[in-house]
Amino acid sequence: MPATFPPLREELQGIEPYGAPQLDVPVQLNVNENPYGPSPAAVADIAAAVAAAAGTLNRYPDREFTELRTGLAAYLNTDGGSGITPEMVWAANGSNEVMLQLLQAFGGPGRTALSFAPTYSMYPEYARDSNTTWVVGHREGDFSLDLHHARALIAEHQPHVVLLPSPNNPTGTALPPEVVGVLCEALAALPHGGILVVDEAYGEFRREGTPSALELLPVHRNLVVSRTMSKAFALAGARLGYFAAAKEICDAIRVVRLPYHLSAVTQATAIAALRHAPELLGRVDDLRRERDECVRWLRGQGLQVADSDANFAFFGTFADRHAVWQGLLDRGVLIRETGPDGWLRVSIGTPEEMTAFRDALTEVMKENEA
Ligand SMILES: *Cc1c(COP(=O)(O)O)cnc(C)c1O
Repeated sequence: MPATFPPLREELQGIEPYGAPQLDVPVQLNVNENPYGPSPAAVADIAAAVAAAAGTLNRYPDREFTELRTGLAAYLNTDGGSGITPEMVWAANGSNEVMLQLLQAFGGPGRTALSFAPTYSMYPEYARDSNTTWVVGHREGDFSLDLHHARALIAEHQPHVVLLPSPNNPTGTALPPEVVGVLCEALAALPHGGILVVDEAYGEFRREGTPSALELLPVHRNLVVSRTMSKAFALAGARLGYFAAAKEICDAIRVVRLPYHLSAVTQATAIAALRHAPELLGRVDDLRRERDECVRWLRGQGLQVADSDANFAFFGTFADRHAVWQGLLDRGVLIRETGPDGWLRVSIGTPEEMTAFRDALTEVMKENEA
C-alpha cells in the first residue's frame, strides 16, 4: 500500500482546519469581535510600549510574565474576583491556547473531557489534539444545563476536565453560580478529582445581576475561570487569553507551556492595554444596550431568540438557515451559521451595522416568505 503524504495522524486525515469565513464585506458580525477599535490614547501607549520592547528583542522575554500577571490579577479583582494574586493567574496566546494547555496538563490518553452541546466548537479540537477522550452531553430546549444530566455524565465518565462557557457560545446562556458550585463538588468527589473550566470569554458582557464564576474561586480549588482580551477588551488581534485558578493549577501549566510562549511584544501590548482598561471596556455598556435592543427586535419579528449575556444574539428558527445566511451576505452582512440546525448567530456591532443587519434580514425574510 502506498504511504499517504504527508504522514498525518489517522484521526486528522481529511479534516478541514477550523475557522469562520474571513470575507471582505462591509458589515462583519460573525466572530464576536468588539466593533470599536482602541482609542487614540491607547494606540499611542501600546505603540510606545512595543517600541521600548523592540529594543530588547535580542533577549528572550520574561518567562513568567510577572508584570502582566500582576496587571491581570488587579483587573480581575475589579470585575468579580477578590483576593486574586499574580500567582493565581496564567496567560497565553489567546484563551484558546490557555485551554489547550489545560487539556495537555489535565487531559491526555486514558482521560476524558466533558462539555454540553450546543457549545464552542473548538473544545472537541483541544481534546483531539491532546489525545483526550471527548464526551458531549446535551443542553435543554432553552440551552440551560440540566443538573441531573450533568451529574449523571460526571458519574458515568469520571472526566478529569469539564469545559463550560458562561455565557455559552453560540447561545449566550450564562451558568447560574449554583450549577458551578454543584459541578465543582461533583468533580472534587471523583476518585481522581477533576477540574471545572468556566470559559468567561464574554464575561464582561453579562447582564446586571448575573455573577461571574470568579466569585466562587475562594470556595472551590478545582475551579478555573478563563477570560480573554479578544472580546470586551477589543484586542482580538493581540492574542492574549488568561485564567485565574489555584496557584497549584498555574504551576502545573508551567510544565506543558512552550519556552517563552508569550513574546515580549505581546506582553508589552497587553500591559499597556490594561492601563487603558476603562477606555477599552468603555463600549461594553453600549454593546449590551444594543444587544438587548437586537434581541427585542428579533422577537418582534416573531423569531425565537435565546436570552443573551454575551455580545451576540442567537436566533431562529429557519427552515433553510443557509439561504438566510447567504441572503444577508448578498446584502453585505456577514453573520455566523453555527449551532443547531435552523439557528443563526449575529455579533453585536455599531448602531449603523445593526441597522444594516435589521434592514437586510427584513428583506431576506420577506423574500423567503414569497
Ligand atoms: C471567542 C471565544 C474565546 C476567545 O478565544 P481567544 O483565543 O482568546 O481569542 C474563547 N472561548 C469562547 C467560547 C469564545 O467564543
